[in-house]
Amino acid sequence: MTLFRKTADLQKYLSSLTAAGKTIGFVPTMGALHAGHLSLIQSSKAGNSISVCSIFVNPTQFNVAADFQKYPVTLEKDILALEQEGCDVLFLPSVDEVYPPGTSASHYDIGFLETVLEGKYRPGHFQGVCQVVDRLLEIVRPSDLYLGQKDYQQCMVIRRLLELKADRDCELHVRPTLREPDGLAMSSRNMRLTKEERAIAPAIYESLIALKKNLAPGALGDVKNQAVNFLEDRGFKVDYVEIAHAHTLQLIDRWDGKQPLVVLAAAFLNDVRLIDNVIV
Ligand code: AMP
Repeated sequence: MTLFRKTADLQKYLSSLTAAGKTIGFVPTMGALHAGHLSLIQSSKAGNSISVCSIFVNPTQFNVAADFQKYPVTLEKDILALEQEGCDVLFLPSVDEVYPPGTSASHYDIGFLETVLEGKYRPGHFQGVCQVVDRLLEIVRPSDLYLGQKDYQQCMVIRRLLELKADRDCELHVRPTLREPDGLAMSSRNMRLTKEERAIAPAIYESLIALKKNLAPGALGDVKNQAVNFLEDRGFKVDYVEIAHAHTLQLIDRWDGKQPLVVLAAAFLNDVRLIDNVIV
C-alpha cells in the first residue's frame, strides 16, 4: 500500500494510473477502522483496479466540539488493517490539504435532507459532509464510491451531491451494515463505550427489529413510542426513532402498507451518540 499525505502527490500518482486505463474505487473514512470499513474496501477491490481509502477526521462535520476532540484515532492499527485487506492507496491528508487556506466553503443545496432526522439534530453536519466528500472526490476522481448503509441519510445526501456534480461521473455503491454478533452496528464510536454501556448498546438494533416486526398499515405513533420507551427504559437518551419513506426520507405517520420504509434511530448512551437503521 502506498501512503500519501499531499494532494499533489496523490493526484500525480492516480492520474498516471487512470491514463493507463485503471479504474479507481474510493472509500472515504474517518479512521478507527473496523470490519464495516474493511468490507467497503473489499467491495472496491472487487469492482475496481485500484482502491483508495482516505482517513480524515473532518472538523467541519462535527456540530459538537467535544465529539470531534474525542473521536477515536488508531492510525497504526488502521494502516496494518488496510495493508492486510489489500488496499492499494491510503490518503492521509492534513486539514490544510483538504481545505487550503484562503478557499471558502461552498453551500450545497441538499433540500429537505438537511432539516430532517440527522439534519435536524446535527445542524450543519451534512454541509460539512458534502464539503469534505466534494473535496475528496475532486482530489481522488474515482469512478466508484463506496459507502455504508449504516449512515443511511448520509448516503442519500451524497447521492444528491453526485447529482449536483454530475460531471464527476462517479457511481455510488451503498453496502450493507456490518454488525457485531449481538447485533450492534459496528461503529468507530463503539470504542468509546464503557463495558456497561457496550452491554446495553445492542438495544438500539433490537428496538428497530421489534419495530419492523410490529409494523402494520395504519397509524404508526404507538409502535414508535414503544421503541422510544424500550430505549429510555434501558438508559438511552433518544434523539429520534422514526419511520420514513425509504427513497425520500419523508417521515411516515400513517402507513398504506405499500410505501417502502426505513426505520431509523439515534440515541445517546451518556455522551456517546449511536445511530442505526433497518430497511423494511
Ligand atoms: P466513518 O469512518 O464512520 O465516517 O465511515 C466511513 C464509511 O464506512 C461510511 O461510508 C460509513 O457508512 C461506513 N460504515 C461505518 N460503519 C459501518 C458498518 N458497520 N458497516 C458498513 N459500513 C460502515
